Amino acid sequence: TFARMEDGHQAIAQLNELIETSLRVINNELKYKVTVHRDYGDLPEIPCRPDRLNQVFVNLLVNAAQAIEDQGDIWITTGLDEDQVMIQISDNGPGIPPEHQSRIFDPFFTTKDVGKGTGLGLSIVWDIIRSHRGTIVLESAPGQGASFTISLPVHNEGL
Ligand code: ADP
Ligand code: MG
Repeated sequence: TFARMEDGHQAIAQLNELIETSLRVINNELKYKVTVHRDYGDLPEIPCRPDRLNQVFVNLLVNAAQAIEDQGDIWITTGLDEDQVMIQISDNGPGIPPEHQSRIFDPFFTTKDVGKGTGLGLSIVWDIIRSHRGTIVLESAPGQGASFTISLPVHNEGL
């Protein structure tokens, strides 16, 4: 057997710090078009696969940046709600039309030009969040941006 690089390891991580790592990874894609607004709550460290969650944040942030045409904003809000860590990533891009909303987590669903998007990002995001026994919910109205809210359990075993 061999370990695939993206398999990663379970660890204890502070998700505000992990989000900062994700932001550094994509800084070049964001810096000229996006203003990032952070509203970080006080979070406990939670068991997770940090490099998988890094993929989640990078995918959501890059999608938001790509949706924004000229200049825009991304809001990152985190907080603790009982035994769930909540992470919300919102943008003021064009939003996602109602007829697409049930399909965006499907593999290969993309509205981007050939070569610009594979449509795999959000399906990978979905799988990673499910494998952490969490949930991800989209809220969007056309013209009013998109908002993804992730909940992850504070207590988790056998990730
Ligand atoms: P890709 O980015 O390769 O198109 P994804 O699975 O990451 O694939 O996203 C699927 C589709 O969901 C995108 O093509 C786009 O239509 C829509 N989408 C995702 N995030 C956003 C967003 N923040 N704003 C507007 N549309 C979005
Ligand atoms: Mg994508």
